[in-house]
This record gives sequence, structure tokens and C-alpha cells, in this order.
Amino acid sequence: MKITDIRCALIGKHPVVRIVTDEGLYGLGGAEWTKPYLKPYVLQFREALIGEDPTDVERCMLKIRQRGSFKPYGAAISVIEHALWDIAGKAAGVPVYKLLGGKVRDKVRVYNGSLRRPHSGSAPEDYAADAKWMMERPEGFFMVKQGIGFHSQMKREVPDFHIGIPQVSPFHGAMDTGPITERGMNHMLDCVAAMKEVLGDKVSLALDCGPGWMLPDAIRFARAVEKYDLAWLEDMLTGDYTPWVNAQAYRELTVSTSTPIHTGEQIYLRHNFKELIETQSVRVIGPDPADVGGIAEMKWIAEHAHMHSILFAPHGTANGLLGLGALVNLCATLPANFVAFEYPTASDPWWHDIIEGLPDGPLVTNSMMNLFEAPGLGLDINAEAAKPYLLEEDAGFFD
Ligand SMILES: [Mg+2]
Repeated sequence: MKITDIRCALIGKHPVVRIVTDEGLYGLGGAEWTKPYLKPYVLQFREALIGEDPTDVERCMLKIRQRGSFKPYGAAISVIEHALWDIAGKAAGVPVYKLLGGKVRDKVRVYNGSLRRPHSGSAPEDYAADAKWMMERPEGFFMVKQGIGFHSQMKREVPDFHIGIPQVSPFHGAMDTGPITERGMNHMLDCVAAMKEVLGDKVSLALDCGPGWMLPDAIRFARAVEKYDLAWLEDMLTGDYTPWVNAQAYRELTVSTSTPIHTGEQIYLRHNFKELIETQSVRVIGPDPADVGGIAEMKWIAEHAHMHSILFAPHGTANGLLGLGALVNLCATLPANFVAFEYPTASDPWWHDIIEGLPDGPLVTNSMMNLFEAPGLGLDINAEAAKPYLLEEDAGFFD
């Protein structure tokens, strides 16, 4: 089998890759809806991959992997990898989890970091109401994740939150940084107390915090919340869109507190997790299969983390339904350090109408999802249903 074309269309806000072959099989991969600009980054790899056998996934990846980087520039490579696995699974007539070593679980656990009500404010009562809304969803999520500190509006809405220059930029992430004031710190602690009051010990709480904290503030806060038994504190120092890791500073934070420290959603490739894992600089890592270099990349990182007793909780916020197919197939195969993956949202509600392969009933029950059993990544796009949503320039996407 040979690749005859690589296409990319913006459907809703999701960049979608479609790899076409000379045997009529095709593969799909979907990137986060926060990256509508990816198309040229995907299409630059056409020439390198046309003529290759897509079922030799690793040989294809060797041709393009060195052209990716930390989020957002590993996404194009990653979703091409998903589409290659989709074809490989269809060619073998099995779900992709079979090709990753087979499933070790029949259902996969998810947590809620992205299904939330519109922002109502940064006061402790707003946080309590958000947590209540998130825990009462019919999916029965076992854990919710809330943004605080630099990963929230409180850096703007709480006066004198930090000592630093407020950054104005069209880009999300890695911009606001600096020492947090005593007032800012106390405000965050009040918000945590208010959320725990609602959640009790029935539903776990994780906090997405940054990046941008200074190490002394991170240590102070992580110690102050020890009594709440949080699932983790995410991306305090580096993280979301930071194009570096700083494992040494993370190690000092991790050993100074019993609160689990988490990072990794922006990191590209296993090599950039090496120091973080081998020096046990964090307790939990959360790469994203649509940023890190693909689902096989995730599997290798998870196994390495497992050997070092580091938990694994994949990121997936905006990966949409195609991204969900990749996450479910991957997470079925992960070792015992797997906690749960972040249940993704799609850019528009009509995505549920154009995707084929979803169950008739609810996707998530008691925070668990069934596996998709169709060959490949298990989900397909109904071309007729999707055509009204294609841009004019992408009219030939399904041809
Ligand atoms: Mg995050």
C-alpha cells in the first residue's frame, strides 16, 4: 500500500488530516481546535510521505519527526501519526490498541478539565459553583480540574495578584509570570477551600496553575494545600506553551511537598521527558498525544514513567472527537501508572452529528468510557454530513 496524498481541512475549528492511499483506505487525525493555523504545517510533509507504505508507521515517522517541536509545533507531526495508525488498524482489521500491544483494560477512565459553565468570576463562590456544576454532570466524573493563578482570570480580576507586568498578547500561555503577592496567595487558598467544601472526598480536585510561578511561591502554595489531598498541581513552573522543561526546578518543588506535582502537556518527544522521569522531578506527567509526537510516542513515555513510579494522566482538552478516538485506543494499552485522560471537547456541537462510530447511549458513565471496537482509531467522518462545514478551499477533502 502506498500513500497517494495528505490533505488537511479546517472542520469547525479543528485541523483534520486525511491520508489517502492507492488501496482506497484512508486515515484520519484531528488536532486541537485551538490550533486552526496548522494546515500549512501539515501539508509541508506531503512530499516526504507520498509513496511510503502508511502501515510502516515508524518508517514514516523517521522521515518527519525531527521537524516538530514543543506545542504547538509538534501537533502536525502528531496528527499525521494518528492518521497513519488509523490506516494500519484498518489494513489489519483491528482497533489500533491491538497494534500498540493490546488492551490491558476494557474501559478507560476520564476526568473533567474542559466541560465547564461560562466564566462567572474569580471569587471563591464562583469557584465553588463551577466545581459543583462540573461534579454534577451526568458523566459522573471522578475528578475535576480547575484553573487558578496564572492559568485563570484571577491574575487579572484579583487586584495586585502578582508583582509583574500584565502581558497583553493574542497568544495563550507562558506570558504572565512573577512573584505572587500574599493577597494573591490567600485568594487562591480561599478558592481551594471553597471548592473542597463542595467536592468533599467524593470527587477529586486537580489544579492547573500556570506556568509562570517562581519556585519559592510554588513551594509555599504546594505545602499550604497539603491538607486537601489534591490530585495534583499542574504546570506551576513551566508547562502549557513553554518551549522548555526545567526539570531541576521541578525536582526541588516535588521533594519539598507531599502534594503531587504534574507537568508535560507542551513537551514534544520522549527525549524531552528523559530528565524529568529519570530524576523523578514530578509525580505525574500529562503529555498530549496530539502534541507529543503521536500515540506510540505516548506509549513509550508512559512505560518509562511507570518504571520510575511516575503517574500518567494524558492531556486532551480541545482534541475533539477524532482526538478522543486516539486517546481511548492509547489509554486501553497503558501500564498501571495510568490515572485517567482529560476528556476532550469538540469545537462545535455538530461534530457529534458528523462523526460515525459513536455509541448510541452516553459516551461516559461513572467517569468511564468503553473502547471503540471498529478497525483503526474507531471513528470516521460522514463525508456528506461534513461537507456543509468545509471551507471552499477544502472542497476536495473527501474526494
Ligand atoms: Mg494544563
